[in-house]
This record gives sequence, C-alpha cells and structure tokens, in this order.
Amino acid sequence: MELLDQKIWIIVIGLILFVLLENVFPKEKIKFVKKINRTFKNIFFWVLNIGITPIIILPITIYATTFNLHQTFVINHFLIQFLFHLVIYDLFLYFWHRANHEIPFLWRFHHVHHLDETLDVSSGIRFHFGEVVLSALVRCAVIIAFNISLTNLLLIEAIVFISSAFHHSNIKLPQKLESILSHIIVTPSIHWVHHHKRQKETDSNYCAIFSFWDYLFGTKSKFKRYLGMPIGVEGDKEQSLSKLITRPLK
Ligand SMILES: [Zn+2]
Repeated sequence: MELLDQKIWIIVIGLILFVLLENVFPKEKIKFVKKINRTFKNIFFWVLNIGITPIIILPITIYATTFNLHQTFVINHFLIQFLFHLVIYDLFLYFWHRANHEIPFLWRFHHVHHLDETLDVSSGIRFHFGEVVLSALVRCAVIIAFNISLTNLLLIEAIVFISSAFHHSNIKLPQKLESILSHIIVTPSIHWVHHHKRQKETDSNYCAIFSFWDYLFGTKSKFKRYLGMPIGVEGDKEQSLSKLITRPLK
C-alpha cells in the first residue's frame, strides 16, 4: 500500500501545480457562471469517486491484478514491462472513451462530464460514479489479458490523472512548446476541441495520454482551438447537482 500513498502524493502535487499554473498563467479569461457552485459540483463527483474507491474500485482491481490466468505478457524487465503496459492501457482508454461517445448507454454517464460549460483542472475530475464503476469493470479484462501488475497500474493511473488535469486545464503554454508536445501527448488545445459544444468536435480527439491514437484511427479533429470557444454539449445545457447525479436514468 506504500505505492498507493505514492500515487496519492503524485496526484495531490500535480493538482496543486496545475491549479497554480492555470491561475497564474491563464490561456483565456473564463466567464464562469456560478463559479463556486460549478467548482463544488466538480469536486463533489471527485469526492464521491474517492469514497467508492476502497469499497468497489480497489477490491475488483486487486482481484484482477492477482487473477493470474496466464503469463503471456510477462516481461522480465521493469521498464520495458511498464512502457508496454502504459501503451496498452492508453490504447484501452482511447477505445473506452470512444465507446462512451458512440454507445448511447455509456454516453448517459459520460454526458455528465461534458455538460461542464467551462474548462479548468476541476473538469478533469468530474466523472459520474456510474462511468467510473463501469470503466473499472471493463478494465479488469485488460488487466487480466495483459498481466498488468498492481504496481504498474497504480503508476499508470497517476499518469492518467496528471494527464487529465493537464489537458483540461486553462494553462497558457508557449505556442512552440505546445506544438511540439501535441505530437506526443494530449495538450489542452487538443482536448479543449473535444469539449467544443458542436457535436462533430465532441466526437473527436479521444486520446488520454498519447496523442497519436486519434491520427492512427482517424478521429483527429482538424478544428483549431480559439479563445472563447463554446464548451459543452450541443442542444443541451449545464444542470443542477441533483439532476447531474440522476442524469443517466433519463
Ligand atoms: Zn468525452
């Protein structure tokens, strides 16, 4: 469980760093509607997900990592094994995210994440608990199929979290740096296009860590982010907390 503590520290330090950066160096001046209320909603979903982690997420994940059905993908070199698992897990996240947009049942949950009409670090922690549980169940198959160890999984999850906080953030990066980074990892400009209110853009740019899957599978949007771009879901608008919680039932 020492690794779990390390994961929590990476997440906390990353969160503080990105929140500081987006407030000191903001890319755009966001016009928040009910800023405190909106940030509270985003944090509420995160706290709820943290609450269900030791009860549901962690037990099924530990079970999957110790399942030991086969040894096909066990590599006796920590770094190579880790990088292999990182790429496989990121590929899974790409298809899982895409499925969340293309399968109506899954969209009912993921919809809640997209109804946020402004973006910052807190958007990256706003996920309906239904989506989190479904994701944890499906990824068990990936963990078992590719022999992903608990150590690697916790490290990868920390990277996924940091990546999500980063690409949802309003940090202003030097243009040249963002342009170089965007060839390898998902930058805010790539992911903000995914949150554009127009459905065509929402249904593109699905990558989580590495940015090349969208190019490889033909889902990269040609649209360029601009300041003041409309964020949200086409034909829909932000809801109250209680409506967001019950949203998947509609
Ligand atoms: Zn999405």
